[in-house]
Amino acid sequence: MSRTAIVTGGTRGIGAAISESLHKAGYKVAAVYHGNGVAAQAFTNKTGVPHFKFDVGDFAACQQGIAKIQTALGPIDVLINNAGITSDAFLHKMKPEQWGEVIRTNLDSVFNMSRLVIEGMRDRGFGRIINLSSINGQKGQAGQTNYSATKAAIIGFTKALALESASKGVTVNAIAPGYIDTDMVHAVPPEVLDKIVARIPVKRLGKPEDVARMALFLASDEAGFATGATFTVNGGQYLT
Ligand code: NDP
Repeated sequence: MSRTAIVTGGTRGIGAAISESLHKAGYKVAAVYHGNGVAAQAFTNKTGVPHFKFDVGDFAACQQGIAKIQTALGPIDVLINNAGITSDAFLHKMKPEQWGEVIRTNLDSVFNMSRLVIEGMRDRGFGRIINLSSINGQKGQAGQTNYSATKAAIIGFTKALALESASKGVTVNAIAPGYIDTDMVHAVPPEVLDKIVARIPVKRLGKPEDVARMALFLASDEAGFATGATFTVNGGQYLT
């Protein structure tokens, strides 16, 4: 039986690697994006994975988007809450809009998407929800009170929903990547990034595929005894 997966932010970076690895493993995959249509089309051309455009921070848009995906691919078995943004500033300079935009995209999205698939998963007795946290939610990062707050909150959300869902065959886990070689990390000035890489014990940035392999395992039917956990993929940079 082929399972169906949604990957938010599934057309670029870590999400694209997750979409592709699920697709190669035989899943029916819907890759969600929001603004970068050129990248989404290029991703679909390369992989054959269809893309769907909607804003995961908007509940009504998620309702419509998920309905379209279900019509095209069937009921959702796996949800990867991967879409995320940064909008960095020290708190004493952060604008309310920067706070709100990051909370909405990184955290409201996790409620919106999970809320809309969890009932079906419970009814069918199977589901996998995988939420992308971050090393900076675990250890904090100057300039990222907004981002770190969302990524720490995702860990609490993951634990609580895992407890609610465990008896229904639905597992809920988080992945906390370290610094991964994507557009998001390329926004960091090169001289700062060099210093960060020097502090990573494996002495390199992670690859999107490093994270995708963990997501693929957690999505599998065989991973049913792992739930409520946060799996770090950070090259040894921060040991929890
Ligand atoms: P990228 O910036 O490379 O890609 C982000 C993806 O999210 C894009 O596909 C983007 O769509 C999508 N997206 C952003 N906002 C929305 C929205 N409102 N609705 C729908 N889709 C949206 O990110 P990464 O691959 O680097 O990061 C993926 C996740 O992993 C994020 O949650 C991030 O916080 C987390 N993470 C990343 C780390 C890293 O080092 N890269 C480290 C730790 C965690 P579009 O293409 O249309 O813009």
